[in-house]
Amino acid sequence: AGPMLAETDAQAGALGYKADATKVDKAKFPKYAAGQLCNNCALYQGKASDAAGGCPLFAGKQVAGKGWCSAWAKKA
Ligand code: SF4
Repeated sequence: AGPMLAETDAQAGALGYKADATKVDKAKFPKYAAGQLCNNCALYQGKASDAAGGCPLFAGKQVAGKGWCSAWAKKA
């Protein structure tokens, strides 16, 4: 498990990543819908119950289970 992804990371900022999904900039990212979380994103590599897990978009880092970014994708 790597270090937690910082919101100040350049790519995190570009994708609007927030460790707390409720803090997402909804004006900038209108696609965000309440209930979308890293831990229910198709790309999340942790278990849904994990507080943090990997994400292929941020190699070597961990994203918060309750986080969000604009690449969020519904699980198939
Ligand atoms: Fe979280 Fe999914 Fe964005 Fe990765 S792609 S940071 S798991 S919302």
